[in-house]
Amino acid sequence: SLELQDLTLAYGDVEVVRNVSLTVAPGTTTCVIGPSGSGKSTLLRGINRLHEPKSGDVCLAGRSVLNDKPDDLRLRIGMVFQHFNLFPDHTALENVALAPWRVKGQSKSAAHGLAEDRLREVGLGERMDHRPRDLSGGQQQRVAIARALAMHPEVMLFDEATSSLDPELVKGVLRLMAELCERGMTMVVVTHEMGFARKVADQVVFMDEGEVVEAGTPEQIFDDPQSDRLQTFLSEVL
Ligand code: ATP
Ligand code: MG
Repeated sequence: SLELQDLTLAYGDVEVVRNVSLTVAPGTTTCVIGPSGSGKSTLLRGINRLHEPKSGDVCLAGRSVLNDKPDDLRLRIGMVFQHFNLFPDHTALENVALAPWRVKGQSKSAAHGLAEDRLREVGLGERMDHRPRDLSGGQQQRVAIARALAMHPEVMLFDEATSSLDPELVKGVLRLMAELCERGMTMVVVTHEMGFARKVADQVVFMDEGEVVEAGTPEQIFDDPQSDRLQTFLSEVL
């Protein structure tokens, strides 16, 4: 499982995530919801140490990751961002094959074979030789997901993966994420898509002002919110 223990993250002296403790069981999906500025992105970046925690611990499979080399850790934890961050001069296939080849040291042909498999899985078997600019936003995000999956991560983190997509493309990417969940991937998903959180999440976590205010099943969070802050948030987004 993925365990956050009393995790605190700061920019300078300002703590923007405070004492967050969470357990994400293997093969389950946790959705993180909350207002803008509540610390959701910072929390995700703390998990894979794009942002070094100020205090607390992150454990993966029972072992702290804080002593791992950050580069090694990013191989174990895949991350997909709002903006796809693809390499513009490389084809879809090359984007997916690059890290297994260059970072993991697989042969170029093995990395390409693997990349083909991943791209077929995300429904892009016909678009492997396209560059990002010749793909739709939804297709680019699928390439980004395939690229993260190609490293065989133990956990996938998604930060607003559909927020910059045109509305008609959102559904397909959400469906792909739901499929990953069904196939038993362990995922932490920051999202504004409350329908997705309700349908797919095993656990929903509501953050406000850097703290976890409530966590529970989708039914508990959406149908029976306890705190004023969550009730107010839901009345604004639902
Ligand atoms: P959104 O829903 O808008 O993406 P969020 O919940 O992801 O918001 P964060 O991006 O984690 O929020 O930001 C949490 C707090 O940290 C905010 O108050 C933000 O202003 C602050 N913050 C974010 N990045 C930096 C930075 N590079 N330097 C200083 N403060 C920052
Ligand atoms: Mg954010």
